[in-house]
Amino acid sequence: MPLDAYERERLANVRPSEWRNPQPAALYDFAIIGAGPAGLVAAHGAAALGAKVALVERELLGGDCLNIGCVPSKTIIRTARLYAEMRKAEHYGAQIPTDVRVDFPAVMQRMRGIRARISRADSVQRLVAAGVDVFFGEARFTGADTLAVDGAKLRFKKAMIATGARPDTPAIPGLVEAGFFTNESVFDLVELPRRVLVIGGGPLGCELAQAFCRFGAQTTIVQEIPMFLPKEERDAAQILSDAFARDGIEVRLNTKAVNVRVENGLKLVDLVSEDYESTVSVDAILTGAGRLPNVEGLNLQAAGVDCEAATGVRVNDFLQTSNPRIYAAGDACLEHKFTHTADASARIVVRNALFFGRERLSALTIPWCTYTDPEIAHVGLYVRQARERDIPVKTFTIPMHDVDRAIADSEETGFVKIHIKERTDRILGATIVARHAGEMINEITLAMVAGIGLRTLARVIHAYPTQAEAIRMAADAYSRTRLTPPMRSLLRRWFAW
Ligand SMILES: Cc1cc2nc3c(=O)[nH]c(=O)nc-3n(C[C@H](O)[C@H](O)[C@H](O)COP(=O)(O)OP(=O)(O)OC[C@H]3O[C@@H](n4cnc5c(N)ncnc54)[C@H](O)[C@@H]3O)c2cc1C
Repeated sequence: MPLDAYERERLANVRPSEWRNPQPAALYDFAIIGAGPAGLVAAHGAAALGAKVALVERELLGGDCLNIGCVPSKTIIRTARLYAEMRKAEHYGAQIPTDVRVDFPAVMQRMRGIRARISRADSVQRLVAAGVDVFFGEARFTGADTLAVDGAKLRFKKAMIATGARPDTPAIPGLVEAGFFTNESVFDLVELPRRVLVIGGGPLGCELAQAFCRFGAQTTIVQEIPMFLPKEERDAAQILSDAFARDGIEVRLNTKAVNVRVENGLKLVDLVSEDYESTVSVDAILTGAGRLPNVEGLNLQAAGVDCEAATGVRVNDFLQTSNPRIYAAGDACLEHKFTHTADASARIVVRNALFFGRERLSALTIPWCTYTDPEIAHVGLYVRQARERDIPVKTFTIPMHDVDRAIADSEETGFVKIHIKERTDRILGATIVARHAGEMINEITLAMVAGIGLRTLARVIHAYPTQAEAIRMAADAYSRTRLTPPMRSLLRRWFAW
């Protein structure tokens, strides 16, 4: 990674080299471990409300999201999408030189520039201006109400663990010796590997496989089970497989990487599926095989905080740990590992820990999105979950090829699918597969949070032409089902008269 002006700006914001930790206060109202999205939101929120706050970070302010997660990935995905569109220029009636040359160093430079700009919001200067005491160093509990960092002892009334998660390493013989990238290292690349193998078909693997393929790397993706994004509905995952194949990614579902070895500088990876064994030869391997919460090294026993290696800090619905004065938020304790859940959970902790609040994690309505092309977004229940709970479901689906704006944009792949409780208009959940599904899902989330049903959504005027009209069309489809046979015959008689 070049230490260019952008990197110097980011580091000056999130880990200034000249930083000296402050003299600790005698007692903190709130001590926070980890300065990712959860820690930063809680620190700013609590300090704004007048609490004396200490924030401890062992690496970089901004955590995974800013430095090695959402921000760099979404930034390069945007450029990858542009290259894909350029290659399809003729389809849009545009002429550009036939041989589109990818300037990968420029892609990464743009990413560094954007990351540096966004790092200003997460900077140590902003925290200090807000009155937060920032400590750089590894935090470790020394008792039920104390922790140590860089030789200093911090006493607290309440604390929050927001230490995030890290990539899990798949147990494949030879992988470690051969070397591989994770999200912690892949954004340091300055040259595009010619051939890439992505191991893991979750959101991270899918997003980056598509981006690397669109930059021109010969890309293979292996996934042990028969579908990508295993949480999502099957038809959504199938659309993604088809999109990958159209992009030119070699899709290997139901396939396991079982061994890696290096020969003549190339990484040879043995793949096994039910009836087929093969070896791929690549320049780089990228793993996206799940995430493990960062709980080691915190000396949680000393604080009486229960945890498990796989699921993280154990919390109740109020995000309180087994030590009533210590709470947790974000990836360190949550199943849904997203920036917006880290943010929302941290807000709950501020209210519950500092103001006797009784807000519940289970009351949150959490959307999410995988930023592939098309995007796959979801909120609420899947049909299978509703059935498990004996909730009768009715589903309204609008294919994007029926939506004028999607046709005009040549972005017809996908659908809007809304599940309601039968005989009501209450939305239970929705899946959207569309170019801008991540934007569109917010309307459904709002409706669910505000208790707005499909009957009202059908009355909401959507600007024409927009892809979000698909949501109104699904609501219209619901409205049509309300025309019962007696009502129809009444209407027929009315018009006859
Ligand atoms: C490639 C990638 C792409 C992603 N894209 C998206 C996306 O598009 N949208 C989305 O919503 N989410 C996305 N995520 C997930 C998102 O980044 C995380 O959910 C989010 O960062 C979690 O925030 P957090 O505050 O819980 O933890 P983190 O961001 O992980 O921050 C935790 C911080 O705690 C620090 N820490 C850990 N242990 C200690 C200790 N003992 N002492 C002091 N400090 C400590 C760490 O150094 C780290 O800075 C992505 C993740 C990855 C990896």
